[in-house]
Amino acid sequence: MGIVLVMPILDGTIREIHAPGGWTLFLSSATGLLGTYLALLMVLMAARVPVLERVAGRGTVMGWHRHLSVWTLLLIFAHVLLSVVAYSMVAHVGAVHELVALTSTYPFMWEATVAVVIMIAVGGISIPQARERISRESWWLVHLLIYVALIISFFHEVVLGPDFVGHPQAQIAWSVAWILAGLAVVTFRVGLPWVRSRRHALRVIEVTPAASGALTVVLAGRDLDRLGFMGGQFFEWRFLTPGRWWQAHPFTVSGRLGRDRVRLTVDRVGDFTEGLVSLPIGTTVAFEGPYGSLTARARRHRLALLIAGGVGATAIRSLLDDIPAEAEPVVVMRARSREHLLLLDEIEEMAEQRRGRVYLLLGPRDQVALQTIAETVADFRERDIFIAGSEGFVNTLSAILHQLGARKASIHVEAYEI
Ligand SMILES: Cc1cc2nc3c(=O)[nH]c(=O)nc-3n(C[C@H](O)[C@H](O)[C@H](O)COP(=O)(O)OP(=O)(O)OC[C@H]3O[C@@H](n4cnc5c(N)ncnc54)[C@H](O)[C@@H]3O)c2cc1C
Repeated sequence: MGIVLVMPILDGTIREIHAPGGWTLFLSSATGLLGTYLALLMVLMAARVPVLERVAGRGTVMGWHRHLSVWTLLLIFAHVLLSVVAYSMVAHVGAVHELVALTSTYPFMWEATVAVVIMIAVGGISIPQARERISRESWWLVHLLIYVALIISFFHEVVLGPDFVGHPQAQIAWSVAWILAGLAVVTFRVGLPWVRSRRHALRVIEVTPAASGALTVVLAGRDLDRLGFMGGQFFEWRFLTPGRWWQAHPFTVSGRLGRDRVRLTVDRVGDFTEGLVSLPIGTTVAFEGPYGSLTARARRHRLALLIAGGVGATAIRSLLDDIPAEAEPVVVMRARSREHLLLLDEIEEMAEQRRGRVYLLLGPRDQVALQTIAETVADFRERDIFIAGSEGFVNTLSAILHQLGARKASIHVEAYEI
């Protein structure tokens, strides 16, 4: 972005800004450039770049991706409007006439127009009112068209963009940046998962009922210790049966069963998780990951407080694998009733082995005050606080504990919504 912006200053073409329509033209190319630069960052955020995943965590990175998407679309729409206005000022014709001229006479403008139509469509189905009406899977498939839009609009940027015309260095820098971003997507979203899935050859060996209607799914494979995942982390799982292969769903590993087996504990909340009841034994499983930064690596204090909201118990249970006895872990488990608690026996046993204890916070949402956690665990400010559960639970509880004096850096979270 820096290289591209500095070129017109270095070669003096920046002076063209004072010509008729010059400012509008400058703003149109600046908004286009900034919009596509943000799109490039969004692609990198969606590429599952390992260092980003490890440092910031999947939820945080996808939060940035979502926030940037609004600005990206607004800037690109501003670019379209400003371009039409600028060129019609230069050519002294009306905006509609100029729009037709732009799309029909300039190279790669048809492709750019199709790209904008795709962006409008994806922007439209992404507004909350529209998203509530379509399934997550349908939205996800349509939103992948953005990759098509970015590829087909690329050529009009480097061939027509005032910042690129006559500036081969800028063209090269921009092209290299996009090629690297594309390679990151192909490597980390397709290549690496494919290689790992083949190497570890996971398949389903057991599907059994767990507490509260949940399911235990056990997977067996080869050399799982070489995957290098830590307690608290999750994978995006793809069960390769005819109706399921195209959907990847995130589930935390709720337990490592020796060297070659892992266990998932799945709460049945919708179509996909309901259907896992009939998952055939022997199904091959492909996966992406490990992801997530809710691990013992985040520890800053000797002591630890682990809080599970509902199915968040899966991360807290596996995190306990890596929490040493010196942390004297206090575990708080929040659920509607005792019957809704998942993995309670294991968590109690593991906490006890580590000189810790378990508190239960039971009851309907409107009758339970999360503040009581701070009263029950009076030394929470001296502990690392690990929270896993629904987005609402995680966000509300971290805000409360922060207000009551816990340092932000000591609060580590995994929200079970992306
Ligand atoms: C980091 C993380 C770890 C998780 N770990 C567990 C776990 O150990 N056990 C467990 O039972 N659940 C876990 N979940 C939640 C689980 O992924 C969803 O409940 C499941 O994908 C729901 O799918 P569905 O089609 O049955 O339900 P739906 O009715 O389609 O969705 C229910 C909820 O799950 C979300 N969801 C649906 N599909 C996806 C998807 N592909 N990716 C992300 N979110 C999705 C939806 O936004 C919605 O909020 C985890 C989620 C995340 C983000």
